[in-house]
Amino acid sequence: MSINIDPTEIAKFSEIAHRWWDPTSEFRPLHEINPLRLDYIDHAVGLADKDVLDVGCGGGILAEAMAERGARVSGIDAAERPLKIAQLHLLESGRNVDYRLVTVEDLAAERPASYDVVTCMELLEHVPDPQSTISACERLLRPGGSAFFSTINRNAKSYLFAIIGAEYVLKLLPRGTHDYAKFIKPSELATMCRHASLDVSALIGMTYNPVTRRYALEPDTAVNYIMHCRTIR
Ligand code: SAH
Repeated sequence: MSINIDPTEIAKFSEIAHRWWDPTSEFRPLHEINPLRLDYIDHAVGLADKDVLDVGCGGGILAEAMAERGARVSGIDAAERPLKIAQLHLLESGRNVDYRLVTVEDLAAERPASYDVVTCMELLEHVPDPQSTISACERLLRPGGSAFFSTINRNAKSYLFAIIGAEYVLKLLPRGTHDYAKFIKPSELATMCRHASLDVSALIGMTYNPVTRRYALEPDTAVNYIMHCRTIR
């Protein structure tokens, strides 16, 4: 099987991994959107007592928060350094997450139909073959399970907000964090989900107001968005 990993992406996240839990660092946007996406997921599926897999978990911002809501959480990532940071942070937080360096494709072959919920946030725009990632997420779900994908839309506004605004003007993210060509329109994500035998149940936008500096969940999906899918099985 070809390996669905871009080494330059792994190098990029490895280099900055030690700042993952610093809420004033380049990971600030992830810290700020975390309560919003956590509540959205919890409200949709009820996280307590669910077996949850967080794909591309990085330093574990979402994984830990889902564990705090009572889910049994596993986190996987293709980069070793963010996983080490995630593991270390458990000592501080006292939470329990099972972290592992493995690709989603390999885990799907090893443990198919093992999870009630799979979350895959802010990852698809960093992988060479998002369809492969989405299909592997589907294989990891038990029948009736839910997958959540978040990524960035591709249009003039998302170019302006996610690249020019975030990387050059407001400097929320390091330059080169995102590649416009890898952004995914909701219609394209929906098509990939259907190819993976996933049914799209909901779509919500994640907006950033540069004046108030606050994020919100809103119907506007022009820049960041989350898609909730369910297995057809
Ligand atoms: N999902 C986390 C982190 C997003 S940052 C959150 O939203 O809080 C993107 C993460 O994807 C990084 O940790 C990076 O190491 C990881 N990543 C990049 N390419 C990957 C791949 N092909 N497979 C799995 N993880 C990958």
